Amino acid sequence: AVAPALSVHCLATSCIAEFGSETQRETWLPEMAETGRPVGMFCLSEPHAGSNPAEMSTTATYDPETDEYALNGEKQWITNGKRGGVAVVFAKVDDEAHDPDDDAITQFLVPADTEGFEVGKKEEKLGLRASDTTGITFDDCRVPAANRLTEPGKGLSAAFRTLTEGRIGIAAQAVGVAQAALDEAKSYAEEREQFDRPISDIQTIRHKLAEMSTDVSAARLLVREACRQAEAGEDYRVAASKAKYRASEAAMSVTNEAIQIHGGYGYTTEFDVERLYRDAKITEIYEGTTEVQKTIIARGVFGE
Ligand SMILES: Cc1cc2nc3c(=O)[nH]c(=O)nc-3n(C[C@H](O)[C@H](O)[C@H](O)COP(=O)(O)OP(=O)(O)OC[C@H]3O[C@@H](n4cnc5c(N)ncnc54)[C@H](O)[C@@H]3O)c2cc1C
Repeated sequence: AVAPALSVHCLATSCIAEFGSETQRETWLPEMAETGRPVGMFCLSEPHAGSNPAEMSTTATYDPETDEYALNGEKQWITNGKRGGVAVVFAKVDDEAHDPDDDAITQFLVPADTEGFEVGKKEEKLGLRASDTTGITFDDCRVPAANRLTEPGKGLSAAFRTLTEGRIGIAAQAVGVAQAALDEAKSYAEEREQFDRPISDIQTIRHKLAEMSTDVSAARLLVREACRQAEAGEDYRVAASKAKYRASEAAMSVTNEAIQIHGGYGYTTEFDVERLYRDAKITEIYEGTTEVQKTIIARGVFGE
């Protein structure tokens, strides 16, 4: 649950670092980087716009008299929704030069104490229960024009660039969950005895652990390769998608087998593998579902 909180904070700081003005960077980044305050939010998804954020309906209407934008709309699934202090909010600009129907999406920095910034209830989730996920409604939420981060029309490509970076973080989260499940399963197999011997002596169990260990190593190597490409300044979009796709699958299968190795005990809340199994699932969904990752990887296959 801590990983997505940190990951989304980093999405917000990345947006400010990459797309913000000198003043915006000086105002927000030192504290956000050093103390983690204010906690950042990344408001892209909406109730009817998930895998295709271009379908968003949140608008930012320019008011020339006050040099402000008025945000109106609803965002969904916002990590850090309850404890966040500043949000990067994606919206379609409505001004003299742009029409919301033109997909004139941009991003704004919106402090959470701005009037009209309304945080909804915390969602009850399968896993990551310590991570607060909420809806956020913008009701004539006014921000100075100086809080805009990108030109109208450039917001969506900016979001995708930031998400590509974030995907490596989610892949790393998945590797962590899978490694933890592997460690738990190994310890349990050494302790649990059936037929007068530890179950770690049974070849079926050993093979399960061999497969789990291989999955974790393969996922970790894909994450490292994506990091290497990113640090080398290469186009790492496909590598980030491969890492997220394979690492989240590994997290699902390794946590599943870890429960199997624990037998009935693994199905209870007394053992951590139950929580790890529930926490693993989300890595196949957020920051782009597995289906979206495969679409990106296939584009890479065809050099598109
Ligand atoms: C716990 C949690 C935290 C989140 N945190 C944030 C956050 O901080 N900020 C934020 O902006 N969002 C956040 N999200 C939203 C998350 O990124 C979306 O849930 C995700 O992008 C999928 O969108 P959706 O839920 O609308 O599913 P949909 O887009 O409706 O997809 C439903 C199904 O259809 C499939 N599908 C859709 N389009 C295609 C296609 N073209 N090809 C093949 N399959 C397709 C999907 O893969 C999926 O299986 C969070 C979500 C959760 C659950």
